[in-house]
Amino acid sequence: MPAKNKAVFLDRDGVLNREMGDYVCRFEDFHILDNFQTLKTLQDRGYLLLVATNQGGLAKGWYNEDELAKMHAHLKETYRSHGIEIKDIFYCPHHPDFTGECNCRKPKPGLLLQGIEKYNLDPSLSYFIGDRERDIEAATAAGVKGILIDSDQPLNEILDLIA
Ligand SMILES: [Zn+2]
Repeated sequence: MPAKNKAVFLDRDGVLNREMGDYVCRFEDFHILDNFQTLKTLQDRGYLLLVATNQGGLAKGWYNEDELAKMHAHLKETYRSHGIEIKDIFYCPHHPDFTGECNCRKPKPGLLLQGIEKYNLDPSLSYFIGDRERDIEAATAAGVKGILIDSDQPLNEILDLIA
């Protein structure tokens, strides 16, 4: 059996970029928080960095896949300029009021399970950092350790919690 990988999953809004109401809909509102040093440290410790985010605004038609892809390209590019690779971004495009129930909208663990499968992760060595209870619920359901932070809180305080 080849050794499995480990990852830190990150919620997007409130962890990587500033929280703006329910969803960040516009490129201009996309403000990336200065957590570069912390993420670099996690990367140096051998963790893949993956994003797991609910994007129900897609189901509501508040923005489309193209606009979301642009925001995510910008996110990755900004991190890359700081020497950080965001390996993948998993998002749920659904919303129960518009598209019915799905398996990926947090607190469901679907986004994390996709990451575990795609990158051959050992969930017990992996983490999910989020700013809502639903992130922690998703983590627990996927067998990953959840770390709850306050929205927009600097991430450096969590480094002690991660091996
Ligand atoms: Zn979904």
